[in-house]
Amino acid sequence: MNLTIEKTKNPMPKPAPGTALGFGRIFTDHMMIMEYDKGQGWHDARIVPYGPISMSPASTCLHYAQETFEGLKAYRSADGRILLFRPEENFKRLNLSNERICIPHVDVDFCVESLKELVKLDKDWVPEEDGSSLYIRPFVIGNESRLGVKDADNYLYIVLLSPSGAYYPEGLKPVKIYVEEQYVRAVRGGMGFAKTGGNYAASMLAQHTAHEKGYSQVLWLDGVERKYVGEVGAMNMFFVIDGEVVTPELDGSILAGITRKSIIELLRAKGMTVTERKLAIQEIADAADAGKLQEAFGSGTAAVISPVGELKWGDKVMTINNGEIGPIAQYAYDTLTGIQWGRIPGPEGWVEEVCRV
Ligand SMILES: *Cc1c(COP(=O)(O)O)cnc(C)c1O
Repeated sequence: MNLTIEKTKNPMPKPAPGTALGFGRIFTDHMMIMEYDKGQGWHDARIVPYGPISMSPASTCLHYAQETFEGLKAYRSADGRILLFRPEENFKRLNLSNERICIPHVDVDFCVESLKELVKLDKDWVPEEDGSSLYIRPFVIGNESRLGVKDADNYLYIVLLSPSGAYYPEGLKPVKIYVEEQYVRAVRGGMGFAKTGGNYAASMLAQHTAHEKGYSQVLWLDGVERKYVGEVGAMNMFFVIDGEVVTPELDGSILAGITRKSIIELLRAKGMTVTERKLAIQEIADAADAGKLQEAFGSGTAAVISPVGELKWGDKVMTINNGEIGPIAQYAYDTLTGIQWGRIPGPEGWVEEVCRV
């Protein structure tokens, strides 16, 4: 497919060095758009100046939430290269999400190549401060003007770029997590494995309650028995119990994180045992009582690694590793961020250079 590029005539001022970028509030000069019409397939791929889009108020995504998205980053290495981390994985996952909610597949290679063009065009927006990066948000929406409930005949694929600050400006700080017993995010057979906005809508109420109680996020339990741990917010979970690294298995209700997969591969390459299995919250509590709960941490593109210093389950409060980051979380963080920012070589094919700056 052809990709046309329309450069902006009014470049926006870039945030001055030292500006607190936060997350996802600032957008770059350009975005990518591609359209799909039934019978025609994907067409009219173009990079255009960033700006509002117009759509029918009857657009299907607004009513029935036919939407999927991805999240990845472009990193600026100290030696002036712009790097992407395993971008194919994101677009393969986008197709898995698309399948679940009847959105047509995208072409993975074309998405990666056109993303590189977009990032190259806006390369000066990739921030330089330690730990900062250019967050990339590809998404697809059903965009047919019709109120009948049916998968749409028309779709939009859009990619936005957003310079974002370090997740932990003051260094890796362990978070407090609330084990959610009332609400569930997803069930087996539902769409928990898909990266779709509806899963996030389902999570917001519990998130509020946890915040009010002084916890930063909730740990979801399985939707059927409310016994097994799933994931946290936009992060997969790892626990170190008596020397074993355990992460919940991909049972269809949790998101198959690329950070999760990368950590499993890195730890196994170092000779550690990583088990993907069902993990009951009771087993975690028992391990805590026995002094065998050594570490807990979340993994995701945004934070990379988020150590958990405290878990609250009902009346029980578990303090983990004295509220400090543990050695395995630290190793995973140092290794992954080292690879992503081009400081250390990673396994073949993990890092792709977009251009030099
Ligand atoms: C995106 C996401 C993750 C993390 O996936 P990464 O590919 O590691 O960024 C975990 N859980 C949910 C619900 C997510 O949406």
